Amino acid sequence: MAAAYSVQEASDRILSGITALGVEHVSLRDALGRVLAADIVSPIEHPPWDNSSMDGYAVRATDVMNASDGQPVALPVLETVRAGQRPSRALDPRSAIRIMTGAPIPEGADTVIRVEDTDGGETTVVITNARDAGRNVRPRGEDLRIGAVAASRGTVIGAAQIGVLASVGCGSVPVHRRPRVAVLASGDELVDVDRFDEVRSGDRIVSSNSYTIAASVREVGGEVVDLGIVPDDPAAYTERLQGATGCDLLITSGGVSVGAFDFTKDVLQSLGAELHLWRVRMRPGAPLGFGMLGAMPWLGLPGNPVSTLVTFELFARPLLRTQRGELRVFRRTIDVRTRDDISLAAPLTHFMRAIVEWESDGVWARLTGPQGSGLLTSMSLANALLVVPQERMVVRAGESLRALLLGERALSSTALGV
Ligand code: AMP
Ligand code: MG
Repeated sequence: MAAAYSVQEASDRILSGITALGVEHVSLRDALGRVLAADIVSPIEHPPWDNSSMDGYAVRATDVMNASDGQPVALPVLETVRAGQRPSRALDPRSAIRIMTGAPIPEGADTVIRVEDTDGGETTVVITNARDAGRNVRPRGEDLRIGAVAASRGTVIGAAQIGVLASVGCGSVPVHRRPRVAVLASGDELVDVDRFDEVRSGDRIVSSNSYTIAASVREVGGEVVDLGIVPDDPAAYTERLQGATGCDLLITSGGVSVGAFDFTKDVLQSLGAELHLWRVRMRPGAPLGFGMLGAMPWLGLPGNPVSTLVTFELFARPLLRTQRGELRVFRRTIDVRTRDDISLAAPLTHFMRAIVEWESDGVWARLTGPQGSGLLTSMSLANALLVVPQERMVVRAGESLRALLLGERALSSTALGV
């Protein structure tokens, strides 16, 4: 049997040969969640002209500097410029041009007096406050200069990034290809939910891993090629794996342990796979396979439903994020204090399912309950994995540990809190 690696070593070995997938172009409307494959440079100055940040009057600061309620300044209004229009003329000294937010500033003006500080006049305007003297002009190129990088390679495209890309005319966006992930579950005891009568009669269990793995892959932005469920039979397994041809990753679950019918490793080896990893010093998730089947990486996740999800979090998610072209591929970990006493039976790195909460005296984690690797509800309740290093087999309530946050739920709150 191959050596058992630490979690860090396993992660390093798994990620060492993984690179971002090739480039394709998608329309801007389809770019949400994808990862930029090139720096996008602005071909324009943005904004393209000096423009007003207020509805008001473009003037020269020197003409309005002393305006006040007691000493108002009256100026003739030369014209009105709306957003989407250009001024037809320059501003003369001791005059005003009525202007709307976003409209180009007329030549000669260095100030926009907000309309609230005037009488709103259309032929003559009376200005009663000088607080805007020298203000409210947004200069051309203030947001982006010509040639500046508007969004850089490796950026995950969210709403704000889509807006920036739109502003600089990037209607067709170069992104990394989405990973195509073949997902295969194995076990004689497994059926899909449509055969739930066999579950009721006590003969079978639902292959929940088929669902959790597919959902996790989609959540990271991958495409699932569902290879279904195969029995514990090498020939059937080998045949089913044909369906993985051309995929960017193969994820199997089950059959990687030391049981008499755990064939996954044998099948992969018989197909010529190079095995890089067979066991990790962690719980749950110790039996974990990784190798290369030709150019396609293969991750053999253990069958226990919690082990499957924990190892997906630690190893499959960063792998897929790397293939997507992301530069930061790991979830965030934070320091928390544990509410529970923890006592462990084996010197392994443990990943306990926990609920992390921000309290007035810091961040605390409490376990979701019993921690068996078959108890999938422990995972569905958790918003974090509490990490107990292998040298700490006893941890007292109140002591500090790291917690790996499991996404948005860990970061959501019941209060606005601003
Ligand atoms: P194995 O890794 O095949 O030894 O399976 C370990 C445990 O996980 C056994 O209790 C299996 O019944 C269970 N298991 C394996 N595959 C799945 C699956 N796809 N969905 C749910 N449970 C599974
Ligand atoms: Mg099995």
